[in-house]
Amino acid sequence: MRVDVLTIFPEMFAGFLDTSMIKRARERGHLEVNLVDIRAYARNKHRNVDDYPFGGGPGMVMQAEPLFLAVEALLPAGESGRPPIILMSPQGEVFNQELAGQLARQEHLILICGHYEGIDERVRIGLVDRELSIGDYILTGGEVPAMVVIDAVTRLLPGVLGAPEGAREDSFAMGLLEYPQYTRPRSFRGMEVPAVLLSGNHEEIRRWRRQQALERTWRRRPDLLAGVELSPEDRRFLEEITNQERERGQG
Ligand code: SAM
Repeated sequence: MRVDVLTIFPEMFAGFLDTSMIKRARERGHLEVNLVDIRAYARNKHRNVDDYPFGGGPGMVMQAEPLFLAVEALLPAGESGRPPIILMSPQGEVFNQELAGQLARQEHLILICGHYEGIDERVRIGLVDRELSIGDYILTGGEVPAMVVIDAVTRLLPGVLGAPEGAREDSFAMGLLEYPQYTRPRSFRGMEVPAVLLSGNHEEIRRWRRQQALERTWRRRPDLLAGVELSPEDRRFLEEITNQERERGQG
């Protein structure tokens, strides 16, 4: 997958691109990230890409022209089909694992990082296909959100993770939060690894993990359960813990 990132701070991506899974994905040719400095498309001596808002008000607004020119330079004229052009924006759809999966099926993405008080509305109207938010809070710029999207999407590209079944069992991948994990030692400061995980009985371990994932999701994120395909065994288990909780509340 190729990702073009339009930013006024390309240097922010250095550590991110050269570390861990993203570094390996780039080295192995699964991911190519092309950083485009928006200032290179400013047509003034000082390479300014912002200006005062029409109508007055605080802060500066990112101008439309450098962004249009930067995107146009990436898209060869006459080529049919273009990659999704995505604006990082707190006003966009909230990014989640399902959207990460959708984007991972694309061969090419263009991500635009905003800055300042906002972006000239004509960028939304005439340039972008989609706006993505990483949550209901305001960050200084779109660079961290772009890194979040690239990270979540890259994990899902075929061949990137050493153990792809890990991604299948991650929280949200199955609609549930992930079950608890343990590694050595068996006993740590008086806390023991659950005996079932040491039993070697794969069916018991599978059932325990499924039930832990169900219970965790039921306690922490019950909203997620509505979107999960539940087996009759899952339903019985959830009924059981709901009844236990009710009895505890009454007792
Ligand atoms: N005044 C703008 C508003 O209320 O929508 C916020 C501007 S914010 C300071 C500057 C830039 O950071 C945005 O244009 C966007 O690219 C990025 N940004 C900030 N918070 C974000 C979030 N939660 N998700 C995605 N991008 C965000």
